[in-house]
Amino acid sequence: MRSFTSPARDPRSALRVALSRGPTRSRLTAAAALLLFSSTAQALVRSKSARSAKAPVVAKGHADGQPAPKGSVTRAPNELGRIPIIEWHQIVGADGNYKVSRERFLAELTELHARGYVPIALSDLLDKKIDIPAGKSPVLFTFDDASPSQFSYVEQNGALQIDPSSGVGILLAFLKQHPDWKPRGLFCVLPAAAAGHAFFGDRGIDGQKTAWRFPKLKFLVDQGFELCNHTLWHAMLNKYPDGVVEEQLARGALAIDSAVPGYKVRGFALPYGLWPKNRALALNGSWHDKKGNREIKYSNEAVFEVAGGPARSPYDPQFNAKSLPRVPLQGGTKLTPTLDAMDKPGPMARYVSDGDPKVIARPKS
Ligand SMILES: [Zn+2]
Repeated sequence: MRSFTSPARDPRSALRVALSRGPTRSRLTAAAALLLFSSTAQALVRSKSARSAKAPVVAKGHADGQPAPKGSVTRAPNELGRIPIIEWHQIVGADGNYKVSRERFLAELTELHARGYVPIALSDLLDKKIDIPAGKSPVLFTFDDASPSQFSYVEQNGALQIDPSSGVGILLAFLKQHPDWKPRGLFCVLPAAAAGHAFFGDRGIDGQKTAWRFPKLKFLVDQGFELCNHTLWHAMLNKYPDGVVEEQLARGALAIDSAVPGYKVRGFALPYGLWPKNRALALNGSWHDKKGNREIKYSNEAVFEVAGGPARSPYDPQFNAKSLPRVPLQGGTKLTPTLDAMDKPGPMARYVSDGDPKVIARPKS
């Protein structure tokens, strides 16, 4: 029988394998999504002036189409528009598969802020309570795989400090400089994967101590971030019988509960975007914990895919929390093309708030 506490392979190399040789369907879906956005982006870049003219922007006092002075531009409300669910993995020295450089991560935060995006919580999406200022657009940040590159501590004179070069360090510094953004984002964590992908590092990997794992999760929740299940050790759920699928999900949820007692996990990110054969098990299931002689149940309201482009608004009748597409950022897959595509009128146009959470503003057609 296989032990689930010690995965056979390094998830990082497994991720690379999934991308280059993984199951055809998910690879194609991801590739199609990336292609769609990069080709749209190229078309947009070719005609920058045309893009500015077409962008769904209403300038106060400049209804004649003349460019508005900087700072006076408001976007027309469209609360049925799309919401990017950004997906980051490792935040490291250089771009690569499942990696963005630290400089790039900061540049992506800066670009989202400059283009009028405001981070929201998964709960805001699920509860249909998006409350952001008029003219602003929501974005949901997701961080997968719980590596030390996302969140590490450094010990200085016996006190723990957040490594300013880790993803959380960079994000918190950015929030300090941009108080209009709140600490919002979803960490899709692995409690027991190899190579330190165990609640942001253990056993000295990248200088991270096993004892720091639970405090890290607690810290994130205390700040206002959310936690999401990503299985116990990044299992390819399509390969396993139902019982193993349920064990992977239940033990993922149980580990989060051990770190932050009573925490209600609402989201689940499919490792490699692969669904279990019995898809319902991604949402609900249970596993018998022999050690504690108890039944561990889990229930997820949201399931995240690995790609697919910007998600529908929760006010769109076709919104489906049980299959949420994401915008992965890594290697050559950049943010700007997606945001440019969302500034074009049409089915991918971005969600723009009217500033009143009680009224759902629809675009004039
Ligand atoms: Zn993952």
